[in-house]
Amino acid sequence: MMAQRKVVRFSTHLAYDAFKGRAKELLGRPVKPELKPFCAFCFAKVNRGYRIRDVVSDNFTNYEVFHVEMDTLCKACALSFKVPELRCRIEQGDTITVVSGFYITDGNYRALQREELADALFNPPEPPFVICITSSPTKNRHLLYRSPVNYSKDGFFVQFNENTLFFHRPKMEKIFVSMKKLIEYGFKPWNIRTGFYGRGKKLEGEAEGAEKELMTIRGDPIFDLLIFLIGGEKDSE
Ligand SMILES: [Zn+2]
Repeated sequence: MMAQRKVVRFSTHLAYDAFKGRAKELLGRPVKPELKPFCAFCFAKVNRGYRIRDVVSDNFTNYEVFHVEMDTLCKACALSFKVPELRCRIEQGDTITVVSGFYITDGNYRALQREELADALFNPPEPPFVICITSSPTKNRHLLYRSPVNYSKDGFFVQFNENTLFFHRPKMEKIFVSMKKLIEYGFKPWNIRTGFYGRGKKLEGEAEGAEKELMTIRGDPIFDLLIFLIGGEKDSE
């Protein structure tokens, strides 16, 4: 029989457990909502919370994620918007290191360097978990709040930049093996991304089989994620 698992609906609530030790330092004192007494993000009842305008920076533009009739966030949601680690920025004293992603499990945060991303996706942690990846870590973007909480290791959502992508692990593993095969044949991520392997060049044998596999998902946003894992960049990033 499977053990009973705690069901967490919001990624912000999963992250709260990992960062609650810093809630006081990052959020300050809670205040009474001016509008309705519910969290503008997760709708939890809020008697005292944190004003949206005090939580997000002036550069934040995605106000559509907040309910219009509410002006306050619960402490879990407020903290998730505040913690720099959830924007891939690890602060140690005055030094900020940027990483390519992170995952959150029950109570834990783990930063992921680019070379650790593939392993994290193909060997995901025990659910519940959230995985977020950015292809340009210097861009200070909020990743966590868009991502659903995952309860399966075989099919789960990956927050990749602004896109929430479904990752069917067995299928993606097959595609990834094909990509690696083409890299072994001496092709660059650029060739794999575009499907252009050189003028007059005809793929043969295993390479041809690998390319046939890739053709099934080229153009899909998940393809860009796999290209990023293999070391290629997206043009627009
Ligand atoms: Zn909330």
